[in-house]
Amino acid sequence: MKTPQERVRIFDTTLRDGEQSPGFTMSAAQKIAFAHALADLGVDVIEAGFPNSSPADFGAVQTIAREVRGASIAGLARCHAGDIEACARALSEAAAPRIHVFISTSPLHREHKLGMSRQQVVEHAIMGVELARSHVDDVEFSAEDAFRTEREFLVEVFEAAIAAGARTVNVPDTVGYATPEEIRDLFRYLRANVKGADGVVFSAHCHNDLGLAVANSLAAIEGGARQVECTINGIGERAGNAALEELVMAMKVRGGWYGVDTGIDTPKLLDTSRLLSRITGIQVQRNKAIVGANAFAHESGIHQHGMLKHRGTYEIMHPQDVGWAESQLVLGRHSGRAAVADRLRALGHVLDDARLDAVIADAKALTQTQHVVSDLDLLRLLDGDPSGGGWRITAMSLIDEGQHTRARIELSDPGDLHVAQEAQGDGPIAALFAALARATGVDFELESYEVHSMGIGRDARGEANLSARIGGEALAGQGTSRDVLEASAIAWLAVANQVLRSHASQRIAAFA
Ligand SMILES: [Zn+2]
Repeated sequence: MKTPQERVRIFDTTLRDGEQSPGFTMSAAQKIAFAHALADLGVDVIEAGFPNSSPADFGAVQTIAREVRGASIAGLARCHAGDIEACARALSEAAAPRIHVFISTSPLHREHKLGMSRQQVVEHAIMGVELARSHVDDVEFSAEDAFRTEREFLVEVFEAAIAAGARTVNVPDTVGYATPEEIRDLFRYLRANVKGADGVVFSAHCHNDLGLAVANSLAAIEGGARQVECTINGIGERAGNAALEELVMAMKVRGGWYGVDTGIDTPKLLDTSRLLSRITGIQVQRNKAIVGANAFAHESGIHQHGMLKHRGTYEIMHPQDVGWAESQLVLGRHSGRAAVADRLRALGHVLDDARLDAVIADAKALTQTQHVVSDLDLLRLLDGDPSGGGWRITAMSLIDEGQHTRARIELSDPGDLHVAQEAQGDGPIAALFAALARATGVDFELESYEVHSMGIGRDARGEANLSARIGGEALAGQGTSRDVLEASAIAWLAVANQVLRSHASQRIAAFA
């Protein structure tokens, strides 16, 4: 007989802890699209941002609170009146708002960061929770750096927060220092010693500095945690947070051991992971658990032999359980309208009928020359052309000059304007990007730049992803081509075109 499974709440902080880490900045529109994907995935709580940190963050949280249904929407606030008031305003249109207040509790943070006594920390915690409760019913309290806090003081702070009205108490291992045995023991201790523990949900928030975030979160669940804070692809401060997809699949595959379950629709994990990669321009490594390209690949002869006889010999879960089967780039000649619409939705695009018909017609035309229409092809069709409607590459060439490489690039724009420029660089990529900068008059420093191959054999193509930060705004570009250098140039140009478009719209706004 199957034992009853207790529910563990999934609190996703990709848009807050994840987004604030270098290279993962997202625009408001990207955050909103991703929040919809998280709600579809079935997370219980979406931490949408830190509203008082900037007007942009406030606006993103406000729009997500207004538009996204199916999950609680949380905003982060320090135990300051200004933070909490801003958070309450940003969340005012949410169906299920949560205010998440936090204050540091460890001796190191009390002394060096806050300059507060234990008593002052407790007073601030009470003030913060009470003020948040005056706006919403659902209040979470976090003791920052909880893991390095004296246990008896942690009990005191949590008791005060619960008495003030907190319904979830979060125990972060802010610096990623804990081990599984210690975390399990800490949660057991808190559950046994905090007055009011039975009436609230205990939550874990683990960082991956020692590569233990998922293991520590699972140990916290064994110790009694019933909420885990995590991010898609494990992104987050420094080495990141616990990876949602790994944590959820560990609970599912080993449900018999942990006796818990989640509300996650696991076949959507891969698409959600890929949507994040596409938005941020940063791919997961091939051997990443669950969502890496190799996660279900069986290359070795011995493994293949076993797999053919019985899948269970080397596989502990089905690839379909996490979304692999359907998403392997397979829209063939006979795929229907619904299949294309589904694929586009998974990629974060919902189209009206006319637009959808146009994309389907283009996709059908593509199948005359290639076997399958990949996700990337679909995105390209959606854009009209990969450069996004601005400059396009009409010719490029590279000459190796021994010490340097010389690149020559020719571009044209929709108004049939042509430019040609040359530049030198230490290597082909440096020369190419320098020539593009000269030709477009746009220059920027890259935050990330990655090239990888899509597919094998005849249909193989190179895909380039890059991201840049220009005037505080995060921009990402993507390019695909049989030639990786051309893919890189297309990705670079996609960013430059966005910069030029935003300059043009600013000029129009200035005249209006
Ligand atoms: Zn964190």
